[in-house]
Amino acid sequence: MRKSLLEYNRQELNTLFQELSQPQFRTRQLREWLVDKYCSDFSKMINLPRQLREILSSQYQAYPLEISTIQRSKDKNTIKFAAGTLDNQIIEVVLLKYSYGYSVCLSTQIGCAMGCVFCASARGGLVRNCTANEMLAQVLLAEQLVGGRIGRVVLMGMGEPLLNYDQVVEFLRLCQDQDFGLGLGLRHVTISTCGIVPKIKQLAHERMPVTLALSLHAPNDHIRKKILPVAQNYSLDEVLDACRYFFQKTDRRVSCEYILIKDVNDSRSCAKQLAELLKNEQMHINLIPYNPVDFLDWQAPSRKQIELFADILRKAKLAVTVRRQLGNDIDAACGQLRRREQ
Ligand code: SF4
Repeated sequence: MRKSLLEYNRQELNTLFQELSQPQFRTRQLREWLVDKYCSDFSKMINLPRQLREILSSQYQAYPLEISTIQRSKDKNTIKFAAGTLDNQIIEVVLLKYSYGYSVCLSTQIGCAMGCVFCASARGGLVRNCTANEMLAQVLLAEQLVGGRIGRVVLMGMGEPLLNYDQVVEFLRLCQDQDFGLGLGLRHVTISTCGIVPKIKQLAHERMPVTLALSLHAPNDHIRKKILPVAQNYSLDEVLDACRYFFQKTDRRVSCEYILIKDVNDSRSCAKQLAELLKNEQMHINLIPYNPVDFLDWQAPSRKQIELFADILRKAKLAVTVRRQLGNDIDAACGQLRRREQ
């Protein structure tokens, strides 16, 4: 198995170039190609000597991921790709086009242990955590695909980010790093969690100005326990308390994600309970119509039902956005493309 040079830190690259009798500035040059110019083809790194490019091409891989499949929605606003890892696993990544540019939705784990009943990623359980550099490579491959910088990074793909805590925090450092990483402000990064209370508090102590997105998906513990097994461990009270703590420590508002599933959590009564639950919270609510998965029975509510639900929240003076449905003509639901690839 060839090693990926994106996985090498500064010291390791210095040592490599020393062994190859190259000056130390090759470290900077290579990293600029890999990260600043999102280039994964050694032969195109024209300020490296030809012989060195040939050695690198024959012995190393630039990124720890290689794209295997790309799907584009008809409206051209959603791109989804699957990428193979060095150990032959599949990671999936989604790119969404907005008025401000592209947002990339990354996977932080291969598979997922959380078992949310509506989710394609949950089937098959957790395979392993992604490394920080595999997360970085997802951004860089996304940049290659769209030919430019990504405006927003969202850790909301396959996996529960806070259960891969150390590598996620390392990735956040790489995002911020002007010199060796992306140079992306953490205000442009969102971390989603289904509500791992101790980890939300731990993240608050990092004092990193990321946006935390809580996957709430239910207005009460009864429904939440039915669709999110994590709710057996942490009650809604405990989860909301942890979110308040995050807000206090970071001054960053937590956003609330609520996937609307037909006949599960989309009733008038659910909307009223949700309005009551969140009336004193500093949260923006994103309503997300469910993206159907072909082997699961769950459906999205009708457009009328979604609007009715949103109206009840708006009348209660809550900040609400209904996310437009993205990429229905591709495998847009989390985990679906990976399953198909496997
Ligand atoms: S919704 Fe997220 S946390 Fe839940 S099983 Fe799917 S990937 Fe895991």
